[in-house]
Amino acid sequence: MADTIQLLPDHIANQIAAGEVIQRPASAVKELLENAVDAGATEIRLLVKEAGKSLIQVIDNGKGMNETDARLCFERHATSKIRQIDDLFHINTMGFRGEALASIAAVAQVELKTRRSQDELGTYLEMENSMVVRQEPCATATGTSIAMKNLFFNVPARRNFLKSNAAEMRHIIDEFTRVAMAFPHIFFSLSHNDQQVFHLDKGSLKQRIVQLLGNSYLSRLVPVQEQTDYLNIQGFIGKPDAAKKTRGDQYFFVNNRFIRSAYLNHAVMQAFQDLIPADSFPLYVLFIDLNPEQIDVNVHPTKQEIKFEDEKIVYAFVQAAVKHALAQFSITPTLEFDIDAGIQQSDAVAKPFTDEHRQAASSSELYQAFSKSREGRLFRDRRIWRFSRWSCTRQSDAILERFF
Ligand code: ADP
Ligand code: MG
Repeated sequence: MADTIQLLPDHIANQIAAGEVIQRPASAVKELLENAVDAGATEIRLLVKEAGKSLIQVIDNGKGMNETDARLCFERHATSKIRQIDDLFHINTMGFRGEALASIAAVAQVELKTRRSQDELGTYLEMENSMVVRQEPCATATGTSIAMKNLFFNVPARRNFLKSNAAEMRHIIDEFTRVAMAFPHIFFSLSHNDQQVFHLDKGSLKQRIVQLLGNSYLSRLVPVQEQTDYLNIQGFIGKPDAAKKTRGDQYFFVNNRFIRSAYLNHAVMQAFQDLIPADSFPLYVLFIDLNPEQIDVNVHPTKQEIKFEDEKIVYAFVQAAVKHALAQFSITPTLEFDIDAGIQQSDAVAKPFTDEHRQAASSSELYQAFSKSREGRLFRDRRIWRFSRWSCTRQSDAILERFF
């Protein structure tokens, strides 16, 4: 009887695998921008045509690649970012799977130009169906330019799934915004059909938020800043009067990686409860930084979902940080540090880290606020806030001095 099982040729296997990583033009935009960030670029330019359907090009001034790496980078599982599985839990780059460029080369025509600063000449490479069709030395600026043309030209069924240019462009702008938001010290620009959409000078996070989300937020951002031994939270929330009727201007970054988390979103929404109408959405741009060993970033092909070792404690910290910020700016009428009992008893709070860290952690400000919940509850009495706005502020400062 004839054998019925066949091994798929590489380019078909790559096309299938690409389906997970590159679903639409915006997915490629994300991967290429992240590679440019990982390459240490300080200037990153994104050019798209026809909402990325005919061209997506990212030009960076990062470290570039030598000739061998320029060929290798398109191989599946080709990565310079991890060597062994353990490295995944110490990762501080955006990439690590070594799948993006292989996937892109499987579903688009790719032109790469790259040069390292120490090399006189760079490398030009053209790929089609995962194969090199042209390679030659070239004169080019330090850094890398990757142009992908005619996305899904060889997978017409998938091309048919693409939405209108307006819809695909919306997705591209979303991905661009997420990366640009996380790295305000990097210059970014975006042009669509040769028209400039964004030109983002290097600056502070506050400047970047306003550049990306609009001037209307300029005087309506409240800083969030908490440092504990377990994690740091910093960023901005919008004042309640800046809340919008549509979800959208809401961003969580964990170790500079944009993530989606309905659970952490809930923590922020809880903190805003009673301050905004039920059907509106406050702005938040929050950066949560914690030991990479406390998270698993390898649970999702596009890395937009991550797993926390202890999700509850992160939830509690996020909520407390937002409440604290609102209280400090005397926006919230009450200070509610009624942290869920389960969390107070959770290992992360009850015995943070190793024993040698316990002392330091238990003296940290947020931890104290949690563990002194009985005292915290005293201040839940709303009467205390029936002062003028001015004395309210003074009151809150006094209380916060005690608790934070
Ligand atoms: P990953 O980012 O997960 O390592 P990619 O397929 O995105 O996988 O990239 C493969 C490798 O190619 C990277 O690890 C990096 O060494 C190299 N590379 C990709 N893009 C760039 C770039 N813009 N500048 C320099 N090197 C790059
Ligand atoms: Mg990558």
